[in-house]
Amino acid sequence: MPHSAPIPFNKPHLTGREAANIDVAHGMGHLSGDGHFTRLCSAWLEATTGAKKALLTHSCTAALEMAAFLAGIQPGDEVIMPSYTFVSTANAFVLRGGVPVFIDIRPDTLNLDEGLVEQAVTPRTRAIVPVHYAGVACEMDPILAIGRKHGLMVVEDAAQGILSAYRGKPLGSLGDLGAFSFHETKNIICGEGGALLVRNPALVERAEIIREKGTNRARFFRGEIDKYTWVDVGSSYLPGEIVTAFLWAQIEEAHSITRRRLRIWDRYHAAFESAERSGRLRRPVVPAHCTHNAHMYYLVLADLDDRTRFIASLRNRGIHCVFHYVPLHSSPAGRERGRAHGDLPVTLDRADRLVRLPLWLGLEAHQDRVIDEILAVLRD
Ligand SMILES: *Cc1c(COP(=O)(O)O)cnc(C)c1O
Repeated sequence: MPHSAPIPFNKPHLTGREAANIDVAHGMGHLSGDGHFTRLCSAWLEATTGAKKALLTHSCTAALEMAAFLAGIQPGDEVIMPSYTFVSTANAFVLRGGVPVFIDIRPDTLNLDEGLVEQAVTPRTRAIVPVHYAGVACEMDPILAIGRKHGLMVVEDAAQGILSAYRGKPLGSLGDLGAFSFHETKNIICGEGGALLVRNPALVERAEIIREKGTNRARFFRGEIDKYTWVDVGSSYLPGEIVTAFLWAQIEEAHSITRRRLRIWDRYHAAFESAERSGRLRRPVVPAHCTHNAHMYYLVLADLDDRTRFIASLRNRGIHCVFHYVPLHSSPAGRERGRAHGDLPVTLDRADRLVRLPLWLGLEAHQDRVIDEILAVLRD
């Protein structure tokens, strides 16, 4: 049995102002969507990313579903994406009848390999979905160029990418559309929540309509029309004010939360440098032109057995580490509804070898112990 308190993999951070904000929202008597706190959060997201419009949603999954509507996905249309990602990246498009075409990832950043995108394009391709793994940017310049050349929509799955940048440009605002997550496992949280960022102005009005049950209610509230009505397909994708009041407390501290996470990340990175030099493991790679947000710290171990032993040994020492994605192209639904472009050797390799370490605010007080235990397990 561990002698000290167990270290969880994740622990949601509270700024301390969430409950007070919820009280304010309650006092204002407007609890449905698009009230005071939603406006504050959206304005901040627009100012920080430069997106034409930021629409809060009840999850990143919902934002991706909206993106699939906006991309006009029809049954049989193909969408190029990595296999090494969360299910929602694919599911959002499959719900519209789309077919995910899974391509391999780069061995350094574990982001979709931009060199493989163009060969996966067919006459049925409609969109490319780069996923910024661990908050480290995909190679957006070549991806956007392929999108332009073939007339494809680029939808960034920036679930993990808030306050990260590619060549100085904020993630989520580089493609036509971008999706953020505020799930409690992400950097900035509200339990369940997300946002759709719309860079392309031509998509703004339809995005608002899809989010508001297919009505032009947003225009009505801005006084642009004198009654609102059903004009298109849509659903209810907007969060209520209780949730956005919580989110605003987090957003106000987003930069300091990110700075603190980066310090934890940097400490891990320094601690495992010599293990990497001796060939024991590989550390994450952040290219010089990418600014990251310390969403995740992971190690790439020797093989599946090594990782299984690593996770079990650390658990015995009271430290909870987890592996990541089962590749979508090898999952039951992925095999049935998608198609793999090639063998995806890097995806299969990393899915067996990657382990994520605890990274949450407050870990600072325990991080020496975590590092010592990990180094001991690595030596065993
Ligand atoms: C977390 C995550 C999602 C889903 O976010 P929700 O807000 O939980 O819907 C989608 N894609 C990626 C890459 C994620 O990490």
